[in-house]
Amino acid sequence: SFHFHAYLNCSFTLSKNIVISTTLNDLSNWSRLSSLWPLLYGASCCFIEFASLIGSRFHFDRYGLVPRLSPIQVDLILTAGTVTMKMALSLVRLYEQMPEPKYVIAMGACTITGGMFSIVRGVDKLIPVDVYLPGCPPKPQAVIDAITKLQIYEDRIRSQQANRCFTTNHKFHIGHSMNT
Ligand code: SF4
Repeated sequence: SFHFHAYLNCSFTLSKNIVISTTLNDLSNWSRLSSLWPLLYGASCCFIEFASLIGSRFHFDRYGLVPRLSPIQVDLILTAGTVTMKMALSLVRLYEQMPEPKYVIAMGACTITGGMFSIVRGVDKLIPVDVYLPGCPPKPQAVIDAITKLQIYEDRIRSQQANRCFTTNHKFHIGHSMNT
């Protein structure tokens, strides 16, 4: 059974002797921590690598990762591939429509630095990046690793802070070697 109390406290009765009591916020944060929904976004070869995660080989929904097409339904955006100047404004708009707390993984050399192309010289000039995942392209396993690390280290999910903190101590790099 499931009971609501004052101030959105709630309790579950699993059996006659086991009752779990929590707040609705804690319950929501716990479920979000286990299930980050990424936006289906990307370009170029890095996006092909990212898209392969959805298929049967990597099956990344077993990690609770359910790709969505609408920015208002997601917690996470992976900026995979080449972010061109024409895409810059759209990317910022997509990011602004995502609800808090929200996270960004910059996936691949092109999105982190601009690489050898005439594109945005680093996506962190447009939106704040939480995880830098280098590689050309990063392997699908590295993407799963980056998302898992984000889930483990990200205490903002647990505390559900409404406002983002843009200080650099919230950013970290995943140290995978280039996949070439
Ligand atoms: Fe393609 Fe490499 Fe750039 Fe990724 S980092 S978009 S694989 S050239």
